[in-house]
Amino acid sequence: MGTVKHVLGISGGKDSAALALYLKDRHPDLDIEYYTCDTGRELQETYDLIDRLEGYLGKKILKLHSVDLNNTMGESPFDHFLQLYGGYLPSSNARWCTKKLKLDPFEKYLGDLPTISYVGIRGDEDREGYISKRKNVQSIFPFRKNIWSEDVITYVLNASGINRTLEIAKSQGFDKQMLDLLGAPLGQGYSMNQKLNRILDFDVKAFNKLVFQCLKGSPYPVGMLDSFALIDNDEVLGIDDIFSILRGSGVGVPAYYEPLEYEVEIDGEIHKGVYNRSRSGCFFCFFQQKIEWIWLFERHPELFAKAMEYEKDGYTWMDSERLEELCLPRRVKEIKLDHYKRSKSLSSFKNWKDLVLESEGVGCASCFI
Ligand code: SF4
Repeated sequence: MGTVKHVLGISGGKDSAALALYLKDRHPDLDIEYYTCDTGRELQETYDLIDRLEGYLGKKILKLHSVDLNNTMGESPFDHFLQLYGGYLPSSNARWCTKKLKLDPFEKYLGDLPTISYVGIRGDEDREGYISKRKNVQSIFPFRKNIWSEDVITYVLNASGINRTLEIAKSQGFDKQMLDLLGAPLGQGYSMNQKLNRILDFDVKAFNKLVFQCLKGSPYPVGMLDSFALIDNDEVLGIDDIFSILRGSGVGVPAYYEPLEYEVEIDGEIHKGVYNRSRSGCFFCFFQQKIEWIWLFERHPELFAKAMEYEKDGYTWMDSERLEELCLPRRVKEIKLDHYKRSKSLSSFKNWKDLVLESEGVGCASCFI
């Protein structure tokens, strides 16, 4: 067996942190390298989480920087690139920050060794996350029912490879029901996804064993292993599991997730709502919602002031308004009122969690997992 590297990216968010804890507890034999791509503009709560994780994991989390900090005279990687871009602030349509500060250093760090990259997409999410285009890198999703990436599923189940898959399944003694599911032709309203789900509903572990055998002799890094513990894993983890892993380990939830109270006045009466920050990443991230900007303004006024300083020469973090407008008392009141009314329209048990899930729908998997 050649050397296969195992890596896990820590974004500073809850899901990647929980994945690191989960894999250490469930699969302590995996020798995983942990890394984080540091923009130099993360919240202090993120750096604190990384410190606590290092303590629990008993390992350093490698800090990857997109520039050599020895040559930037104390400038953060974000500021270095902002200067190169002439002060042009990133936005959801021009996301140079993700490429320069997260993806490029990750790709550079990967090197040429066959590598398995563990990704903390949860079982209750419908997204794939960033997948490296490198042939030597394979992503695995331990929290999902389907731990494999789309390309692997295509390799195993598509029309051109299904005969080979069926041969392997027969040689491994798979029963007739599984062989029928595998052999069912695609098309005429029967998609690859539907087929995959029916197979997984029937027997996740059997399917994982089959995929593992199919990858033998392929360029996929998992196929180069003698054994792979994750194929016996049929747990599906959602957001509640993530919070209980973090709290149960003692590492805790990143502090910015903790809901804090704010007050709103309606018809002369004071009501209490809760706000928090729903994601990791740079403190000025343009993906944050208005209520999160208010959270930053009230809970980290010095960072809000810094975010305001970046808005010059016509560049702003939001299309709709400048930060100096957003922090006017009238706007703060309006934004809180709007947020309070929206959260009250959800059931009281779910409101905070649902708002977290809702806000995760937008954004960047590299920065926020
Ligand atoms: S957190 Fe936001 S601002 Fe920072 S790199 Fe990611 S997308 Fe860009």
